[in-house]
Amino acid sequence: MSFSDLGLSSPLIQAIEAHKYVQPSPIQQRAIPAVLAGKDVLGIAQTGSGKTAGFVLPILQLLQSRKPAKGRSVKILVLVPTRELAIQIQDVIRAFGSRLPRQVRSLAVYGGVSINPQMIKMNGTDVLVATPGRLLDLVDNKAVQLSEVEMLVLDEADKMLNLGFKQEVDRIFGLLPQKRQNLLFSATVSGEVEALVSRLLSDPVTMRQEEETSVPDLIDQLAYAVEAARKGPLLRYLLQHEDMQQVLVFASSIRTADNIAGKLLKHGVQAAALHGDKSQGARTDALTKFKAGRLRVLVATDLASRGIDIQFLPHVINYELPRSPKDYVHRIGRTGRAASPGKAITFVTPEDAHHFKIIQKKMGKQVEMIQTDMLDLHGY
Ligand code: AMP
Repeated sequence: MSFSDLGLSSPLIQAIEAHKYVQPSPIQQRAIPAVLAGKDVLGIAQTGSGKTAGFVLPILQLLQSRKPAKGRSVKILVLVPTRELAIQIQDVIRAFGSRLPRQVRSLAVYGGVSINPQMIKMNGTDVLVATPGRLLDLVDNKAVQLSEVEMLVLDEADKMLNLGFKQEVDRIFGLLPQKRQNLLFSATVSGEVEALVSRLLSDPVTMRQEEETSVPDLIDQLAYAVEAARKGPLLRYLLQHEDMQQVLVFASSIRTADNIAGKLLKHGVQAAALHGDKSQGARTDALTKFKAGRLRVLVATDLASRGIDIQFLPHVINYELPRSPKDYVHRIGRTGRAASPGKAITFVTPEDAHHFKIIQKKMGKQVEMIQTDMLDLHGY
């Protein structure tokens, strides 16, 4: 199936070709026609499935036949849990929307930065991408009006609830008109997500990309058995010997993330930490540099990493094991995406061994384990 089979117009097809997307992903094959037909959509899909283009492309197409937005009443609202995701979605809208005959104006609003510029830019926004708290601040400041929303996209709904946004989201729903098109994307389906689905969606077109089976095939996985105290030297050894130039390292806490990045810097490796304690400016700066290849190592916590989308990220290292198998798959899903191969390395201490067995069992895949006791890490 090609993109032109999905009912997209030729300017959009050209934009897609410019992005070298050859074939729509399974989620896109189902979501694009459904959104164009005005249907509600439920996508059980994670980052890496192509879900963003799955809703952005049809939105851009629908907007082509609409008049430019005026005033502060938004018609298309995309709700997201994190600032990073908001920025990423806006980037996709801009990337595909920039060459269309009818210019599409999008705006990403999120907390942690001054509200005034966002208030000023709101006028005439076609697609508003927002985190819940900041959106409500803007509503309270009368900078935006939600009573005419025609389409609501709720992205990473599970994450939204996990981060404790339920109250904000409830309040936002109360401000929306009854009649509208709703799209909901979530990587997982908990009871809470199910409640949201039955509340929001009516007769949705449903698509599911199983997390556990979809990601690992693209990825070359390896584990290194290592004593906790030798993890830092092993990381630096691998960076050098495997010639890793763009590596996302996962840590389980803010403190460890800072420690790892700090030590790398001391050893002359360009590294930065990305976590919730960093200012928005520092987070954006680190991500931009990392994406541009000016930062060799980005050390992230699970929370901050969610939704990071970097094309062709070659290496992911689990410096510490994630708590759940799902998080493991999510982490390593950062690499080997969109058909480019990647390598995922996991450090496993003797204390982690049992937990790592459970992860492999859940994933249905055995990961090759390399012993490192004989490895001379002196000087790293
Ligand atoms: P997403 O799941 O929306 O975060 O997208 C994951 C990655 O896949 C992004 O880097 C997209 O640019 C890329 N992507 C999305 N759709 C396609 C496609 N049809 N062909 C190739 N790459 C794609």
